[in-house]
Amino acid sequence: MATKTITHWIDGKAYERAAARSGDVFNPATGEVSGRVALATPSVVDEAVESAAKAAVSWNSSSIAKRTKVMFAFRELVARHAGEIAALLTAEHGKVTGDAMGEVQRGLEVIEFACGIADLSKGEYSENVSTEVDTYSIRQPLGVVAGITPFNFPAMVPLWMFPLAIACGNTFVLKPSERDPSCSLLMAQMLADAGLPPGVFNVVHGDKVAVDRLLEHPKIAAISFVGSTPIAQYIYETGTRHGKRVQALGGAKNHMIVLPDADMELAADAAVSAGFGSAGERCMAISVVVAVGSAADRLIPLMKERIAKLKVGDGAEAASEMGPIITRQARDRISGYVDAGVKEGATLVSDGRGLQVAGRSNGFFLGPSLFDNVKPEMSIYTDEIFGPVLGVTRVATYDEAIALINRNPYANGVAIFTNDGGAARKFQHEVEVGMVGINVPIPVPMAYYSFGGWKASLFGDHHIYGRDGVHFYTRTKAITSRWPEPRHRGVDLGFPTNR
Ligand code: NAD
Repeated sequence: MATKTITHWIDGKAYERAAARSGDVFNPATGEVSGRVALATPSVVDEAVESAAKAAVSWNSSSIAKRTKVMFAFRELVARHAGEIAALLTAEHGKVTGDAMGEVQRGLEVIEFACGIADLSKGEYSENVSTEVDTYSIRQPLGVVAGITPFNFPAMVPLWMFPLAIACGNTFVLKPSERDPSCSLLMAQMLADAGLPPGVFNVVHGDKVAVDRLLEHPKIAAISFVGSTPIAQYIYETGTRHGKRVQALGGAKNHMIVLPDADMELAADAAVSAGFGSAGERCMAISVVVAVGSAADRLIPLMKERIAKLKVGDGAEAASEMGPIITRQARDRISGYVDAGVKEGATLVSDGRGLQVAGRSNGFFLGPSLFDNVKPEMSIYTDEIFGPVLGVTRVATYDEAIALINRNPYANGVAIFTNDGGAARKFQHEVEVGMVGINVPIPVPMAYYSFGGWKASLFGDHHIYGRDGVHFYTRTKAITSRWPEPRHRGVDLGFPTNR
């Protein structure tokens, strides 16, 4: 199979100079190398930032009408080419086509939200705060902002960031995951086709070397990061130390409580879909089912039945429901957790190890695994596995369930399945997690709300996209003015008070 070269996008075009460093990109379904991605050196990052800084001078003061027009045109291109983007996602990430189309759709919704920037970025105005004195506030862009994104949503997570950042009047440098970098270039081309001036959106591929240069670069005003918790914490601490505004979304361990009164068929469908969709490589995947009282004995056989029917295969094939894992190393690491769960004494109900996919013997496949009797001290409970391994922890009461969840250091998403409205309402109030589902297993907020966890799942003060996104990518200026003509009142060293 011919390998392609994946290069940076700087100043409105593909970067032409040969890369000093590069890395392999795989098709996880076949195990073959499909491309070589350039890994930026600090000087390549500097070129991208300089281009963004130059473009910021005019883009920062471009009209709302111009920015909105570009966003509408970009929205049309992404919608028209959704299938093409999804095919790239499947080829480099491995997720199945339907899931990839869903990813594009959720990203598209953020572009649509950004098309409303005229309303979203309005300031406030108070007339006559003092006699003939008015005060008003405006929201201004920050300048150059950077986005650093994970492998698991190569289209959607960048789209959580750059449409709003750009619509707010910032210029952007994206450092996508080096595992599945191609779709960021397709989106860069679409932005150019939509009329975005050169330099407003740039892509630098790379690893820690590129990220570290972004974190310390004096011309970068803010960083949005999405990835694992240790790296999120590093990004937050390093970025803020360099004076930047930082939002850093981290990893997760999402619980789903099932109360004994729940519809067990519904709960089994939800747990299996949310546990194994995208091979469990979602930050909102359910990884622990907390079965209260008698729920487990009824739920587990229903889950087992469903898991046995899941079709694992090449994501590009229509029959596949679950694709491969992103890399061979990740597959082996996840499989190691199944070994550890058995060793630590959990009950292995479904074993995904050793799965063979016909005609894809070199693909990074791992079947779905289900554990019962998972205890909080086991590594399959404490660690973010980020793969198709789902555990059931049995507890006697609702109080035990909520205490377990609130003790967990991660707090990204959570769900409860019940037919008791009072229990659900109590849960939404008491649970210390950023995104809550009630009979909804993956409660990813729509674009007009904001996305973000609590505790070790988010470092910083702002959630991502939605109104929090607009606030993150702008700063407020408050103006106090006196018209029609300032009166000469003489020098007065007292603090200004209202008259
Ligand atoms: P990762 O943390 O390994 O990588 C994320 C980004 O950081 C990539 O661009 C990578 O190149 C860069 N990076 C990696 N190591 C680095 C280092 N030492 N120094 C500087 N930069 C570094 O995450 P991943 O494996 O790509 O993605 C999976 C993780 O992302 C999971 O933990 C998942 O929960 C999390 N995630 C969280 C959310 C959320 O919204 N909270 C969404 C998606 C994924």
